[in-house]
Amino acid sequence: MARHCTVEHNLEHCPCTYDPCPRKGICCECIAYHLKMDQLPACAFPPEVESTYDRSFRRFIQTYSKR
Ligand code: SF4
Repeated sequence: MARHCTVEHNLEHCPCTYDPCPRKGICCECIAYHLKMDQLPACAFPPEVESTYDRSFRRFIQTYSKR
C-alpha cells in the first residue's frame, strides 16, 4: 500500500530554525542527510542547542549528559 508524505503536518511540528533548507518537513530526507554526516536532525535537540546549528553526535551527548 502506497503512503503519501505528510509534509504539511510534519512542518507543523518541525523545530528546525534553518528556514532555507529544502528538506524541511521531509523527515526521511532530513534524517538521512544528517546521519550521513554523523549528525542528528534539529528535532533531536532542545531549542537553545538547535539554534546553534551544531547537530553533531558529540553535541547531542554533551547536551543530554548534563541533564
Ligand atoms: S534538521 Fe537539517 S535537514 Fe532537517 S530541516 Fe533542519 S537543516 Fe534541514
